Amino acid sequence: MAFVTNALFREDAYLKLGEGQVAAVNERGGIILDRTIFYATSGGQPGDTGFLIRSDGSRIAVAATISGETKDEIIHVPAPEQPMPEPGETLSLAIDWERRLRLMRMHTACHLLTVVCPYPITGASVAEDDSRIDFDIPDSSYAKEDVTERLMELVAANHPVFTRWITDDELAANPGLVKSKNVRPPSGTGRIRLVCIGDDAVVDSQPCGGTHVAATGEVGAIHIGKIEKKGRENRRFRIRFGPLPGN
Ligand SMILES: [Zn+2]
Repeated sequence: MAFVTNALFREDAYLKLGEGQVAAVNERGGIILDRTIFYATSGGQPGDTGFLIRSDGSRIAVAATISGETKDEIIHVPAPEQPMPEPGETLSLAIDWERRLRLMRMHTACHLLTVVCPYPITGASVAEDDSRIDFDIPDSSYAKEDVTERLMELVAANHPVFTRWITDDELAANPGLVKSKNVRPPSGTGRIRLVCIGDDAVVDSQPCGGTHVAATGEVGAIHIGKIEKKGRENRRFRIRFGPLPGN
């Protein structure tokens, strides 16, 4: 039976430290807690790394965080040769915050790119230094300078970023919320998490389980590194931190 972990990062993406009780250690050494601040790999965003700290101060390095049988079962994958905790043990939790904040800034930047390029998404990946989104895009005239400029307008406006839950029925009534061409948000659980940008979500809202910064200004300077042609109507946009080189 799958465990249900209370995913604290879903309500507060800024939790750097926390506490959790060991619910189980699975047959592959994965550690499952009753609650966690560690994001599990999903929706193109990599899971967190960090440490679980035992009461004697010894540390268990977490090399990856993934989901198990269901999205609600979150598994902390220890690095090799780590001490193993006992079920019932309470652990202090510390994520690699510097890395996570970069992933949050990048994930929000990816959502901003879907505002600037409102086309069906065929793939996406959030990473610390270089994220990418693939679009089915009939218009080949997009230039990285223009896209960068429009992205930075949205960053400079410092729009609020917040989450809101809707029902399956509300999503069904608003199919335009879903931007990915092939991936449907999980339905059947009764509720869908939307990530919204702008007052009253005027800039954007889309189903997403990821972690985001609280305002677009926190994304900071970003630019489009490259627009690659992946097919007749498919373009890969790469987002990088920092201003557009040469500008
Ligand atoms: Zn997202």
